Amino acid sequence: MEKNKAFDGVWVFGDYRDYFQNRVTLQLIAKGKELAKELDKGLTTVVLGDQVYHYAMEYVAHGADVVVAGEDPGLKEYQVETYTAVLARWIQAFQPQVLLSGATSFGREFFPRLAKRLHTGLSADCVALDVDNKTGLLVQTTPSFGGELLAEVVTPNHRPQMATVHPGVFRELPHDSRALGCIIYPEIGPLPEIRLKRIRTRPQLTHDIRLEDAPVVVAGGRGLGSKELFGLLSELAALLRGDVGATRPAVRAGWAEEDRLLGQTGKNVRPKLLISIGTSGALQYTTGIQGAETIIAINRDPNAPIFKLADLGLVGDAATVLPLLLEALRKRV
Ligand SMILES: Cc1cc2nc3c(=O)[nH]c(=O)nc-3n(C[C@H](O)[C@H](O)[C@H](O)COP(=O)(O)OP(=O)(O)OC[C@H]3O[C@@H](n4cnc5c(N)ncnc54)[C@H](O)[C@@H]3O)c2cc1C
Repeated sequence: MEKNKAFDGVWVFGDYRDYFQNRVTLQLIAKGKELAKELDKGLTTVVLGDQVYHYAMEYVAHGADVVVAGEDPGLKEYQVETYTAVLARWIQAFQPQVLLSGATSFGREFFPRLAKRLHTGLSADCVALDVDNKTGLLVQTTPSFGGELLAEVVTPNHRPQMATVHPGVFRELPHDSRALGCIIYPEIGPLPEIRLKRIRTRPQLTHDIRLEDAPVVVAGGRGLGSKELFGLLSELAALLRGDVGATRPAVRAGWAEEDRLLGQTGKNVRPKLLISIGTSGALQYTTGIQGAETIIAINRDPNAPIFKLADLGLVGDAATVLPLLLEALRKRV
């Protein structure tokens, strides 16, 4: 690959923490590769840490043409100040056109700081990315005005064009152990003084099957009205061998844990079947479920916006429909 094509195209920040669960970097490599092709450029993943060779190899196997890697004991921990310093230095040297990161808690903290350092724009929590055929600019689609609108943002004058993207929006490429790529180790330069010290790490307790991977998701909203009725979703999900998701009001009411939240500020799911019960269909929520193959909605309001998205709609009171549905399914298993 020509040098300019390899280095000044689309860059993806490699967030390898919790590698087997957190797939957003791989999803961005797949999408970034498409964007890079349209720009006639290459896809580069940038990775920082202490010993990152194995991650670099993984990124190549998932589609990266080049991995720009930085290894230093001072980079072992994710520290926003050190990572910003190194990445800003390399961005200025290599001048990529596009720089993407997952909208994880780290990406949300790290990328605004980096964008400020580089004097460029940043679109947060994007739900789609495209290249404008006429201008070659990155079109960054992001919910705005509290999610009422989807805005298409471009960065015409400053580089790189930066965006964070919600996990689960794009699909990763399959692992190809024969893929070839180039791993380079540029000079890191001086690191800023580290002002934080990690004392201990507590792993987050997770479920056996991740909600994002469940083939069936049963999602409940405010319309369920009580913790008891919401609780029936667990049985429904178990009968369908699926998992439970929730809207923001259901989480706020304490009917579901925060890690069940679907949507713009929660998880994106792509199950074969999603049953949405007592949810109005607000854009901030539907962003997280629109990748489902089939959506069944249950709502007592025939004009609820969720019916526009649903493949099958059932107008009815959840308190009546849910027990009937459970009864019918119990007989079948
Ligand atoms: C910046 C921002 C980010 C946000 N991010 C998210 C996000 O990530 N995820 C998210 O979910 N929300 C998010 N929200 C909130 C979002 O805008 C909506 O308010 C929320 O999704 C609505 O949840 P809901 O459908 O459960 O409740 P409601 O909108 O109140 O809808 C309840 C529905 O239940 C129906 N209903 C009522 N009683 C019954 C019954 N007995 N049987 C059947 N149906 C019934 C009603 O007709 C209604 O349609 C965000 C908001 C903002 C401003």
